[in-house]
Amino acid sequence: MISLFAKQDILNLSDQKLSDWFKTNKIASFHLKQIKKWIYLKNSESFYEMTDISQKTREILEKNFCIGSLEKSKVRKSKDGSKKYLFKLKDNNYIESVLIPEKNHYTLCISSQAGCAQGCKFCQTAKLGFIRNLSKAEILSQIINVKADLKARKKLTNLVFMGMGEPLANLSNLILSLNIITDSKEGLSFSKRRVTVSTCGVVSNFQELARNTEARLAVSLNAADNKTRDMLMPINKKYPMETLIEACKNYPLKPRDRITFEYVLLKNINDSEKDAKKLIKLLKGVKGKVNLIPFNKHCKSEFEPPNFNTVLQFQKILSDNNITAIIRNSKGSDISAACGQLAASY
Ligand code: SAH
Repeated sequence: MISLFAKQDILNLSDQKLSDWFKTNKIASFHLKQIKKWIYLKNSESFYEMTDISQKTREILEKNFCIGSLEKSKVRKSKDGSKKYLFKLKDNNYIESVLIPEKNHYTLCISSQAGCAQGCKFCQTAKLGFIRNLSKAEILSQIINVKADLKARKKLTNLVFMGMGEPLANLSNLILSLNIITDSKEGLSFSKRRVTVSTCGVVSNFQELARNTEARLAVSLNAADNKTRDMLMPINKKYPMETLIEACKNYPLKPRDRITFEYVLLKNINDSEKDAKKLIKLLKGVKGKVNLIPFNKHCKSEFEPPNFNTVLQFQKILSDNNITAIIRNSKGSDISAACGQLAASY
């Protein structure tokens, strides 16, 4: 039976809203701090576990709220150790998150939308089209769920918004969730330097993101001229490269910070020596570094990755011209968990 009065997800409510609700329901306001500690620090998934709160109050909370609204529906493990989590949303849509083991820590790649409206030609998520924005709770629940699954929870230190969707097209929920993610007193306590928001270039929202958060910015450039970028990424028609680069130059950065430019290398499309030289010119005067990502093949695309020598050559041209360029071989390709392969095909 479907309840007409579905419980509200407590993760979606602001402190103010909760405090008001507590007042109306005669619950002491100091419980708010305790609840946040249980959820964000101790990973509690039920109010019954919150043993420093009276039984009666816990029952009231349990009756009225839930903690997180994702259902873990499938976990697949890659040969390289990365794990793909498939989550079912309350409205029966699906999203995915990917846990990537690094040398001494884990990075979690999370989704900001179900599907995506951006239509980038090389990306598998794009083929789903746009379904909807994720709520603040659905963004946070991905982290809480994966943490619950991890023995070494403290090692989950890095977070990237590089899963399904365009984070800057879901700006308000992105900001709300980031503020909990980097809250070191009552939130999830991720270091600001270890949280990265990746955008295809929704330039109109850059300044608002900077004003409200301190997450790092990554920009998916993927081409070195407008003609190629127009063909690959429809957003380029709205915000051509000159506008995008100008917005990057105006993005407020701390002295040590740089913007990461992601560049998916596609065979015979954007991988030539000429492209590398154009990229150098384009990035002149921008505080940035480049992540080169050889294209991850998927069945819904005609594109191919370049051969490895071409990738190395491209990197060398950038490095020789004082641009830091790192080759990022995406993990999890055997379980379709690599960049651009998230499509929740269930
Ligand atoms: N919408 C955001 C975040 C999701 S895409 C953005 O565009 O940045 C995350 C990264 O994966 C982007 O840099 C994108 O260019 C890259 N990507 C998408 N499909 C890919 C594929 N098939 N192979 C390699 N990288 C891909």
